Amino acid sequence: MKVKFKDLRVLDARHRQRLLHAIEDVLKHGQLLLGPEVDLFEKKIADYCGVEYCVGLASGTDALLLALQSLNIGKGDEIITTPLSWISTLHAIHFVGATPVFVDIGEDFNISVALIEDKISSKTKAILPVHFKGRICKMEAINKIAKKYSLYVIEDAAQSFGSSYLGKKAGSFGDIGVFSMNPMKVLAACGEAGAIVTNNKEIYDKIMHLRYLGTVDREICTMHSLNAKIDTIQAAILMENINHLDEIIQDRIKIAKFYNDNLSDIVTCPEINDSPQNRIALFDYAILAQDRDRLKSFLEDNGIEAKIKHAILMPDQPAYSHLSKSDLPVARRIVSQILSLPFYEKLDQVDFAYVAKKIRAFYETKN
Ligand SMILES: *Cc1c(COP(=O)(O)O)cnc(C)c1O
Repeated sequence: MKVKFKDLRVLDARHRQRLLHAIEDVLKHGQLLLGPEVDLFEKKIADYCGVEYCVGLASGTDALLLALQSLNIGKGDEIITTPLSWISTLHAIHFVGATPVFVDIGEDFNISVALIEDKISSKTKAILPVHFKGRICKMEAINKIAKKYSLYVIEDAAQSFGSSYLGKKAGSFGDIGVFSMNPMKVLAACGEAGAIVTNNKEIYDKIMHLRYLGTVDREICTMHSLNAKIDTIQAAILMENINHLDEIIQDRIKIAKFYNDNLSDIVTCPEINDSPQNRIALFDYAILAQDRDRLKSFLEDNGIEAKIKHAILMPDQPAYSHLSKSDLPVARRIVSQILSLPFYEKLDQVDFAYVAKKIRAFYETKN
């Protein structure tokens, strides 16, 4: 038996046909760059998130970078963020020349709000929380702190498109919400893609220029920037995939609940919220496991692909060895125990039941 971590093939023939039609339409009209599907995609994303504006971008990394640039964040500014994220989050801060300030996380894998205020200095410009694995951070508390100290809030919502909290969608709490729609994400393109959402017209206008090399009317260059436009074909594909998003989220919640029901007495499982006000669009299903490395090899020996995401905290990555070592006890413990199990909406019942059975077998034979 083999159980893959994720499977990106489009095996459903009807859905494959819908995607091919979407691509065909773009090939017929030929506006491969900023074609009409890009505008439609942006309207759809803004509506879905309950915000005024969306800009489609080439990737989540570009979205983070342009978000910071649009707020004039740069050299001498400090950004408060989490140590546990995909390295993109830190790269974006690095590339605008700002200094990251890391705040430890809580048991929910997200930035620990109670520790933020201690790290605020006269140089702090923004808080950049990451909704890790799809779980939205304590945004009402984060916004309160931001207001008190006049800080921007940029949500790295790359892993949480479709999640809601307090009746609001991920990305709609801060000044700017950043998404990735790369093929690993819950709302996925068939290649690289990303977006930002905002209610601020000025930010929106600026990011529209920033994504096109800092040009106005595609000719006069007023800002330094790179090319970060979303492809029309990816926008067309995403418009199709978003129609199925709620179903995808529900299917993932079902699998997550099965894992929880079968594993929560032996490992630490994530809390699964699925009320309309508070729903998690789960990106990854991650447990905290004792003897994690041996469990991972045991699963591999049984044909099950599990992954550690992430084994190394961002500030501990070799590329950031110049940063002073931060005291991050919870984050360090969590990355020593975290393990992501096979998890995607098309995962078969037989497969996830087998994964759960093998994890139980590992702990039961040990004792
Ligand atoms: C995927 C991801 C990104 C980067 O998105 P790309 O589209 O791959 O550039 C940024 N932050 C987080 C938390 C992510 O998971």
